[in-house]
Amino acid sequence: MGGKINKEWHAAHKMPKNPSMDQRISWHLEHAKNCDCRNIEGKLAEEMKKRGIKF
Ligand SMILES: [Zn+2]
Repeated sequence: MGGKINKEWHAAHKMPKNPSMDQRISWHLEHAKNCDCRNIEGKLAEEMKKRGIKF
């Protein structure tokens, strides 16, 4: 569960308030490239699989 957090990346990339699914997906894709603090899982992972997005 979770690895190292990239605090600088997080400070520069806040998740919008009440994000749409599209916003969440793009945030998490960028996040996965830059930070290791959390995994893509649950509903978000399902939605990305449905859309054929690899992560
Ligand atoms: Zn992170």
